Amino acid sequence: MIPRQFLAFAVLVCFAFPASAAAQSNSAQAAGAQSEDANHKLAREIYKELIEINTTDSVGNTTVAAEAMAKRLRDAGYAESDIFVGGPNPRKGNLVVRLHGTSKGAGARKPILLICHLDVVEARREDWSVDPFTFLEKDGYFYGRGTEDIKDGDAILMSAMIRMKREGYQPDRDIILALTADEEGGQSNGVAWLLANHPDLIAADFAVNPDAGVFELENGKKKLVGIEAAEKTYQDFELKVTNRGGHSSLPTTDNAIYQLSDGLARLQQFQFPFELNEVTREYFSRSAAILGGSLGADMKAIVQNPADAGAIARLSAMPYYNARMRTTCVPTMLQGGHARNALPGFAAANVNCRILPGHTSDEVQKVLVKVLNDPEISVTAIVAKGAGTEATAPSPLRPDVMGALEKVSAELWPGVPVVPQMDPGASDNSILRARGTPAYGVVGVFTDVEDDRSHGKDERIRAASFYGGVDFYYRFIKALSAGQ
Ligand SMILES: [Zn+2]
Repeated sequence: MIPRQFLAFAVLVCFAFPASAAAQSNSAQAAGAQSEDANHKLAREIYKELIEINTTDSVGNTTVAAEAMAKRLRDAGYAESDIFVGGPNPRKGNLVVRLHGTSKGAGARKPILLICHLDVVEARREDWSVDPFTFLEKDGYFYGRGTEDIKDGDAILMSAMIRMKREGYQPDRDIILALTADEEGGQSNGVAWLLANHPDLIAADFAVNPDAGVFELENGKKKLVGIEAAEKTYQDFELKVTNRGGHSSLPTTDNAIYQLSDGLARLQQFQFPFELNEVTREYFSRSAAILGGSLGADMKAIVQNPADAGAIARLSAMPYYNARMRTTCVPTMLQGGHARNALPGFAAANVNCRILPGHTSDEVQKVLVKVLNDPEISVTAIVAKGAGTEATAPSPLRPDVMGALEKVSAELWPGVPVVPQMDPGASDNSILRARGTPAYGVVGVFTDVEDDRSHGKDERIRAASFYGGVDFYYRFIKALSAGQ
């Protein structure tokens, strides 16, 4: 991915060298190019192998994928004692591998943890125009379930671990890779299982995860390099009104459906307060400069102190930005009554909340009770487990992580801005953050903002984006581990 004008410059420089130096320089370049090519080939092989191992929750098996990766690591020279495959049951295996760093003992830099999930969302052959579990390259795209979410990341990280081992690279700190089960659903989240059962295997200074954050392409042009450093918390509440009911030919003034509807109408009128954190403040500041125009001006106005109320209102009208400025709660399901000819004995709604980092579910529940303003509407938090269900704080925008990302990004994609992001959804990062390990979502692969097919039919990514991700991660991991 060397820009054309750089190549021309390199040729000129070579002519200026004495003959022997030029020959050396050429052969060094050739060797570098070859290993980059070889690495692309290896990454593609791993990618294909993973896509063709079904890792869905219904009939798939992440242990098969973890074992296949373990074999590749052994073949590349990793010691058996540095490879772990295990999980709560034979279908939900996780892989952990460690590349040892040079610094030991007191004062040593703590390891870096790379995480990425092996499982994929269900995919039915009849819904797709191609077989979701056969790797296919067509018209410059790779197709298959998991090509975008997130077997591309697994293959990219695996190829980097293998390349570093083969090259004899000595990082200044341990580099740990964990490929895990059940991020998309299921009962056996691999990150949670490893933390509960083998915490030492993945104890780290911070984690990097390709499964969050966005590298944006718009009309084929690279727009921004995102780093996800915060996520909202997921919380459902059941709202319920009960009533003695009765015959529908004799309506009463109290009615469970009206009563609940009135409460929901009050919720519709309510907005949680505007609030920024370190990550969203930086997101809006940097986006303001990229977008410019009236949108950029509004973003600039909301990061000022005090924030401009008019700008907040205009940005709040756009769901994408609104979700990044406040907690949201919205009804998603409705139930009520038991017969067409009876007064309803109950009415219930599910209200789904996405809570800003730094706030708790209890806090939000109290707000809901106040807004509904009717003691007969009960509000019950629905307990759920998994990614995103525990309150987390944003991970700090550390200079070492941001600096490495900005450096490598500038080398590969000069002029493309790096932008911190908060995801309104959730990934495995939230599980690590909830236990005190900062976690950063760095996808590495540029995707078209208008063509996001993750979880959908005919999932695909651009082949060039995949190879860009292979080059990026190899350099990024080295930048994080080559000493300061
Ligand atoms: Zn994912």
